Amino acid sequence: MSTVVCGSNHLNSDTYPCPNCHELGKMVKAETLKNMLNDDLLPNSLESFSLCLSKACDVAYFGQQVFYKDDIKVKIWFKENDQFVPICYCKGVTEADIIEHIAIRGC
Ligand SMILES: [Zn+2]
Repeated sequence: MSTVVCGSNHLNSDTYPCPNCHELGKMVKAETLKNMLNDDLLPNSLESFSLCLSKACDVAYFGQQVFYKDDIKVKIWFKENDQFVPICYCKGVTEADIIEHIAIRGC
């Protein structure tokens, strides 16, 4: 029996530092960005964007362009409260990861 965790095979090989806080971000899929960004802000290419995981940072997504928390449709919960703590150290899973899956990816 295999346990499939959604996103467990996600793109995690390439990470880039956030231009604002310089923390490493997490690559996001084009669909994620499309669902999250305000429609009038959608860039021509949704590829190669990362999510800034730093709670204190106002940057939401960065890539060819930088999008701030105010540029997205919903609040990024982990940037709004104090729950950005690792839940599973062995896998490096943080509450932010879980929230991202529930709130952003809808899985
Ligand atoms: Zn940042």
